[in-house]
Amino acid sequence: PVMFETLKLLPADPILGLSMAYAKDTNPAKVDLGVGVYKNDEGQTPIMAAVAEAEKQRITRETTKAYTPPAGYPGANEAVTRLIYGEGHVAVLANRVRTIQTPGGCGALRVAAELIQRAKPGASIWVSTPTWANHIPLLGSAGLSLKEYPYYDYTSHSINLEAMLATLKTIPRGDLVLLHACCHNPSGADLSRAQWDQVADVLQERGVIPFVDMAYQGFGEGLDEDTYGLRLLASRLPEVVIATSFSKNFGLYRERAGSLSLVLADAAQADATNSQLLSVTRGLYSMPPAHGAALVDIILHSPELTALWQRELTSMRERIAGLRVDLVAALNGLQQQRDFSFIAQERGMFSFLGLNVEQVQKLRSEYSIYMTDNSRISVAGLRAQNIDYVARAVVAVL
Ligand code: PMP
Repeated sequence: PVMFETLKLLPADPILGLSMAYAKDTNPAKVDLGVGVYKNDEGQTPIMAAVAEAEKQRITRETTKAYTPPAGYPGANEAVTRLIYGEGHVAVLANRVRTIQTPGGCGALRVAAELIQRAKPGASIWVSTPTWANHIPLLGSAGLSLKEYPYYDYTSHSINLEAMLATLKTIPRGDLVLLHACCHNPSGADLSRAQWDQVADVLQERGVIPFVDMAYQGFGEGLDEDTYGLRLLASRLPEVVIATSFSKNFGLYRERAGSLSLVLADAAQADATNSQLLSVTRGLYSMPPAHGAALVDIILHSPELTALWQRELTSMRERIAGLRVDLVAALNGLQQQRDFSFIAQERGMFSFLGLNVEQVQKLRSEYSIYMTDNSRISVAGLRAQNIDYVARAVVAVL
C-alpha cells in the first residue's frame, strides 16, 4: 500500500504561476508586475553593494561552520533591535524586548504564530481586508483563528479608517490584530501618524495585542519614519509582536533573513517567553540560517557599510516613488474618466490599479502585462522605457 496517493495535485500558486507564465511569454514587450521583488531600471535585482562588500568581509572573517546560538548571532540581534526600535526606546531600556533571528519574515510570522498558539491555543488574530495572501496559511496553519477587519476601500482607493476603528472597538480583550508597519501589501495604503495614534488608543483601551508585520522598513518614508506606529505601540502597550524581513531592504530574498521581536510585560516575563520561543524554533528548524543575518550584522556594525546601505536603500525608495509619479502622469495624461493620483500617494511595492479580472486577463493575453487577478501591481516592475506602454494598455482595457 502507498500513503501519498491521498495527496492530490494542487493548482499552481497564483503568484508563482504568474511568474512561470511570464517566463514562457516570448513577446519582447512583456512586463512583469507580479512578484514583489525590487528591480532596477534594467529590470534586474542586483546584489546591493553594501551586501557584496559584507560578503567579502565574511569570507575572510568566518572561521567555523559550527552551529550558531539558537537565537542567531547575538550581535546581529542587538543591531536589529536598534534598527527596529531606534536608540533608547523605553521598552528596550526596561529590558522587556527579546529579538531572535528567523528564516525570513515568513519564518518570523510562523514562529510567532506557534508561540501564540502555545500561550493561548486557538487565539484569534484579526487581519486587514485585504492582506498579504500568505498571512492566512502562515498564521492559520499554526492553529490560530483568523478574523478580518475592514481596511482598504477599493472605490475611494484609501483606508476606511472609520470602519476599521469601529471593528477594532468590537475585538475581545486578548485577541491579536495584525498590522502592516508600512507599505501595506497588497494595497500600498498606509496609516498616517494621526491614524496610528487613533489605532493605538483603541488597542490600549480594549486590551488587544498588536502583531506588526514589517517587511518593508525603509521602503515607505524612511528607516525611522516607517516604524512610527510600531514604536508607538511598543511604548504604550504591555505586549507587542513584531515580525521583520530583510528580504527587501537588504535585498537578501534567497538568504532567508528576518527577525522576530517581542515586547513583553516585564523582564522576567521576557525571559520566560524567550525560553518558550527558543523551544518552538528548536522543534521547527533548530536554528536559523546564518549567512544573511551575518551580512546584516556586518553592515549594521560598520559605519561605512551602514552609510552605503542607507544610500542604496534611499535610492530604491526614491526610484519606486518616482515610478509612481510617472505612472500617474502617464495614465492621467491619456484619459480623464478615471483619476489614478492615488498611486502616487501610496507607498512601497504595491498598488491596486482598480481593474476587474477581465481587464487584468486582457492585459495579460493582449499586451503581455502580468499582474495578479485583483489588479495588484508591483510598481518596481515598471521601467522608464515601459511606463508609457503599460499606461496605454491599461487605458485601452478600461
Ligand atoms: N510580510 C509581507 C507583508 C510580505 O510582503 C513579505 C514578503 N513578500 C513577507 C512578510 C515575508 O518575506 P520573506 O519571508 O521573504 O522575508
